[in-house]
Amino acid sequence: MIKKALCLALLASASLASAQEQVVNLYSARHYSTDEALYSNFTKATGIRINRVDSDDAGILARLKAEGTASPADVILLVDAARLYRGEVDGLFQPIRSKVLEDAIPAQYHAKASADGISWFGFSTRGRVIVYDKLSVKKADVDTYEELADPKNKGKVCLRSGSHPYNLSLFGALMEHMGEQKTEAWLKGVVDNMARPPRGGDTDQIKAVASGECQIAVSNTYYIARMIRSANPDDRAVMEKVGVVFPNQSTWGTHLNIAGGAVAKYAKNRANAIKFLEYLASPQAQAYFADGNNEWPVARGVDISNPALKAMSGGTFKSETIPLSAIGMNQTRIQQMLDRVGFK
Ligand code: FE
Repeated sequence: MIKKALCLALLASASLASAQEQVVNLYSARHYSTDEALYSNFTKATGIRINRVDSDDAGILARLKAEGTASPADVILLVDAARLYRGEVDGLFQPIRSKVLEDAIPAQYHAKASADGISWFGFSTRGRVIVYDKLSVKKADVDTYEELADPKNKGKVCLRSGSHPYNLSLFGALMEHMGEQKTEAWLKGVVDNMARPPRGGDTDQIKAVASGECQIAVSNTYYIARMIRSANPDDRAVMEKVGVVFPNQSTWGTHLNIAGGAVAKYAKNRANAIKFLEYLASPQAQAYFADGNNEWPVARGVDISNPALKAMSGGTFKSETIPLSAIGMNQTRIQQMLDRVGFK
């Protein structure tokens, strides 16, 4: 009898201990090894342990849907504006109120506020820029997105899959700037200009330009900065051969995508989830985005200079100012266009 009581007491104290241990469950599409410091630093500062599940944007959204109310997810981190929009529209996030976040993140980088709060916040941006072979291509022939489809660049263009979120969002943005008809004609022109069928990631396209397999490619800026800063001399040799241009400086500006986060609809550790998002907006975490993964921080008052980003853009550049939700809304029509023009 005494033994049983002791057991129960032990059980009770064990469950008390686990109730006191603070955790936050993270579903993350951030695929950057430099983020480890970002996470460990949060735990050090708050005592909140992070359980992380890594997948890509689509995998995370599908998993949240399948898990429903039983989902253990507290925080969702995605690396694409259209996917953040998708998560919001599909009701996978819960709107939150946080003065810290609203003060830190400018309105253009978060979801539209509803009566219940804001569904997601962007924490960093990345440009989608054009990379070209310095020897055979003139910068003036590739300084707009439109020219990727120009017959003068026939047989020169390398791209990753059109259905990858980074490209879907770029094309969704172009549809906002050029309208539906022109965008479909543009996509057809890009397909006609391809040097090879789409394959690989952004870094593979840059390497294909350096190796002469093609002459023009498109990449997110952080992949380029990573190569510039690489300890591997082969990577730096690649970057010696290619030029980087921030497109559309004289018109609507270079396409920017965001990486951002949200609190999961059925978060069990809601307060910790908000604490984590607030941490991501802090100057310290913003510095990790800038220095670790070569992204531009978005929080107000955070001014961090990354020499590789500076060298690449010449310091400042003009970026587009369309609402990010418009990019998300255009995705379905873009995917239909890709099917029609045979863009794999
Ligand atoms: Fe990426």
